[in-house]
Amino acid sequence: MATPISHLAVPLALTAALGPDMVPPGLMALALACAVLPDFDALGLWLGIPYAHAFGHRGFTHSLLFSLALAGAGSLFAPELGAAPSIVFLVLLVSAASHGLLDAMTNGGLGIAFFSPFSNRRYFLPWRVIEVSPLGLFEIFSWRGLRVLGSEARYVWIPCVIFGLAGFAVRGLFGPI
Ligand SMILES: [Zn+2]
Repeated sequence: MATPISHLAVPLALTAALGPDMVPPGLMALALACAVLPDFDALGLWLGIPYAHAFGHRGFTHSLLFSLALAGAGSLFAPELGAAPSIVFLVLLVSAASHGLLDAMTNGGLGIAFFSPFSNRRYFLPWRVIEVSPLGLFEIFSWRGLRVLGSEARYVWIPCVIFGLAGFAVRGLFGPI
């Protein structure tokens, strides 16, 4: 995985770019949850589910179908969230699917089962530029952890900040999208 904190960069950038009218606080909170939820499969390692298993780490919860299911379920609550169902669906889909895509750009672990449950084949993207994050929380506070955060700053946070600011600027110039 990339560190859980860096998975939050995508929904935060979406919120900044689209603005509070399209992404109210409740939807932002749900999008943040969708961006980190896939890594709850790491609990399976403690329960004895092997990494390479269909429900192992980077398995089904990192798949495109799981992202679609989260987005579809979330869009049912569009009225409560105060946003259009199509916007809820898209924001949650991008937030959840970005998790697997970012993991697929890391340089360690097994690949991502994007097409689970139809295929358990694991994939990486051609650009494996993000240092894989240590699974232990305390290891993040080490030299290796600093290297991980440095690569995430370069390849996740800076592009997300640029995207968020660009959307913010467009909204400032032309009004809400
Ligand atoms: Zn992950």
